[in-house]
Parts: sequence; C-alpha cells; structure tokens
Amino acid sequence: MYDVHSKCADDFIDHEEILATLAYADENKENTELIDSIIEKAKKRKGLTHREASVLLACPIEEKNQEIYRLAEQIKKDFYGNRIVMFAPLYLSNYCINGCTYCPYHAKNKHIPRKQLSQDDIIREVTALQDMGHKRLALEAGEDPVRNTMDYYLESIRTIYGIKHKNGAIRRVNINIAATTVDNYRLLREAGIGTYILFQETYHKESYLELHPTGPKHDYNYHTEAMDRAMEGGIDDVGLGVLFGLDKYRYEFAGLLMHAEHLEAAFGVGPHTISVPRLKHADDINPEEFDNGIDDETFLKIIACIRIAVPYTGMIISTRENKSCRGKALHLGISQISGGSRTSVGGYYEPEPEDENSEQFDVSDNRTLDEVVRWLMEMDYIPSFCTACYREGRTGDRFMALCKSGQIQNCCHPNALMTLKEYLTDYATPETKKIGDRLIEKEVLNVPNEKVRKVVLENLRLIEEDNRRDFRF
Ligand code: SAM
Repeated sequence: MYDVHSKCADDFIDHEEILATLAYADENKENTELIDSIIEKAKKRKGLTHREASVLLACPIEEKNQEIYRLAEQIKKDFYGNRIVMFAPLYLSNYCINGCTYCPYHAKNKHIPRKQLSQDDIIREVTALQDMGHKRLALEAGEDPVRNTMDYYLESIRTIYGIKHKNGAIRRVNINIAATTVDNYRLLREAGIGTYILFQETYHKESYLELHPTGPKHDYNYHTEAMDRAMEGGIDDVGLGVLFGLDKYRYEFAGLLMHAEHLEAAFGVGPHTISVPRLKHADDINPEEFDNGIDDETFLKIIACIRIAVPYTGMIISTRENKSCRGKALHLGISQISGGSRTSVGGYYEPEPEDENSEQFDVSDNRTLDEVVRWLMEMDYIPSFCTACYREGRTGDRFMALCKSGQIQNCCHPNALMTLKEYLTDYATPETKKIGDRLIEKEVLNVPNEKVRKVVLENLRLIEEDNRRDFRF
C-alpha cells in the first residue's frame, strides 16, 4: 500500500500508485482546466506532486508545453540565476561483481580491461584534474566488496583532499558507489564527502530484477532504500537519478518524484540533486537492444517537468549528452554539468591506449573544460566552481533554507564570480579569460547588497593581483 512515510521501498515506490498516476495522467492529459490549475500551482514555486507533474509530462498540447518550458526556464533563473556548477567524474575502479545488463562493467564481460587506481594513480589523475581547473569531483566505481572496499574509498577521499598542486585543490568530493550500510555511510560522511549519489536505474521492480540478474545489486529493496540509510548515517545531501532508456519514462518520472517526496516526508529534506542519464553505447552494450530509448524532445520535457516539480533540487547532466542537447537542457533546468570528462579508469593524466579502453560509456561531448567554460559564458551563463555551501555546513535543510531566504544573489552569485575568477586566472586560455573578465565586470553589478559588492570587488582584485584563493561567503 502506498505510504510516503514508510521506510519500505515497496510502500514509498508503490507500483499500484504509479499505475494509478499514469492512468490519471492519461485521463487528464488534455484537460486544459486541470493543466492550467497545475501550471498556476507550479508558478508558486513550491513544487508539484508526482500526480500533478505526471499530467504535465503526458500533456500533448503544444501551447501548454510551451508554457511549461517558459515556466521551467523562469524557475531555473529565479532559483539558480545564470550560474552553472562545474564538476568532473573520476572513475576509481571498474571491477564489478554485478550483472547489470546495460553496463559494460558487468561481471561476465571478460574482455574489458579491469583497472583500479592506486593512491599514486589517484595523485596523478587528480593533479591533472586540478590543472584543468576542477574543484569538484564525482567519484565513480563498480561494486566489488573485495577490491573496492570502504577502506579503499576512504583512503582515496583522504588522498584527493590532500593533494595541493600549484593553486589547485579539490574542495568537494561527491561519490557514486553501490548501496551500502548505515555504518559505511557514516564513515563516508566523516570522510567529508559532499553528495552521495546513487542512480535507481529503474523504479519498475520487475524490470529492475531482470536488468540486475546477479550480484548484490539484484536486491531491489536494498538498493531503493539506500538513500534512507545514507540519511540515517548523517549524509543529508543525496543525489537521485534514473537511467532513461531502461523502462518506460513516464513510470520512471513518477517513481523519481515519489522517491523525492518520500525523502522529504521521512527526513524533512528532499534530494540535493537529480541526474538524468540516458543509456549509451558502451563496449559490449548496444542501447538499440533496449526498447525504451527516448528522443531529445521527450528528454527535454522530462527535464522541464522535473524543474518545476522540485524547484529546490539541483539537476545534473553529464557528457552522455552532446553539446546541442546540453545547451537546450541548461535553459530548461540543469544547474550542474561536467566538462572535459573521461569515463575510463585513468585517462586524465595520460590517455588510455586504444586497446585498453575501460570506458563506462561513450562520451558525446568531447570538449575540454576550457571550451565548455567559454561556451557557457558566450551564452551568458556563469560557470561556477563554488563549493562553499557544503564547506560552510549549508547542507540538507540548511541549504534549502538559503534557497528560500532569497539571499542567493548575495551569496551564491558572488561565490560563483570569485571561483570563476580563480579559474580564469589560473587555468583559462587568453581568449576564455578575456570573455570571462568581461562577464565578471558586468555580473558583479548584479550583487544587490552594496557592502557585499564592495567585498567581492576587493576579493576579485586580490585573486588577480595577490594570488589569494578560496574566498567564500
Ligand atoms: N556501481 C554503482 C552502483 O551500483 O550504482 C554506480 C556507479 S556507475 C559507475 C554510474 C552509473 O552509470 C550507473 O548507476 C548507471 O546508471 C550508469 N551507466 C551504466 N551503464 C551505462 C551505459 N551503458 N550508458 C549510460 N550510463 C550507464
């Protein structure tokens, strides 16, 4: 029985409730009166329920869809301004004992080269990432309790935070690893991780069991209840996601929002981020063999509907998507993107030889971080390398409180400008620096509080002239 407060996955992602939601959405997808009232509710920026948002997602009326897109764009601007947070994935290991049928790291894949970064490898990779300008990483790994142990992760996190190369530093380490125990989540929290990310892959239990035929990940409930355990372990920034292409997207969309509603109901704080990965070609994986692929138009509508359904939740897009799709997705709600990514184990310090390809999926955006940064600025976005919230203890509901206080423009905006200035001074090409300095000059005038603006101007000067770093509000 559907119960948003229950700690049991079968209750908070109740199959019958999803089916009823989809039926309700089908019945009402052309009910303009209801659709208008849902859009009006969304304009209050307090979010929508999974049922309401599912009606909007199902709606085929072009005029209403345009309204949804306009609203998503407006909400994005109101909550996130024109800032886009930058990050890079770092694959630690592709050893895996699971049987996920869509992932090339599955245990039966005997020809993919298996690799695990040693602490020395990590130092080399992270130094290369710092030299690109990255400050925020998402650690990725397959599930292998013997090789990829919690001790290995904790040691790797310590290593990463400890690397100070030139003016570089990784200031926030997020982690995307297999579901684990409350005690392990507590250890990750104590090690200073930012967000714990775990994709659900699919909320459809029956499909989930087929798609994960072997290995610990086969346990749907253990996987689906992972965020509850993470929160019990004290991690209050968690990142959800589904892998679009595995099951029907409307089912996944409803499940995703129900999961967010559950975390809000059970812990008083919703997900910090939602990722929207789409299934990609990879080593022995052919996405055509999966029946539920979605086109760009549907993908973008999903992003817009998530944006208005959970306005306070950051949204992440990776280099699984190409430049054009990423550009459109940014307008509709994405707040974080990766740049210059490698999805192989190693490859930042030195490209992998062709016959040693350990990639998890093919990357569709092969631009360097500098090219992505310049492209964003040419569209009037501010690439932000800010990690202040988490370092100032503004996680979970305290981060949400900042969003709701209206002080973002006096806090996140200056932090974005100061960290962009660091990037431009230390890592950018001359052309990127020129564009960025002009953008900062213009954007600093948009800091509303005069005192804050003065401090920002002084800090920008100190970054450039005195080689000072790491200013933050
Ligand atoms: N091993 C971890 C777990 O059990 O969830 C997750 C880390 S995995 C390195 C990161 C994510 O990549 C997976 O959760 C999955 O959604 C995604 N992924 C796997 N195969 C993919 C493919 N062929 N195309 C796109 N994304 C894929």
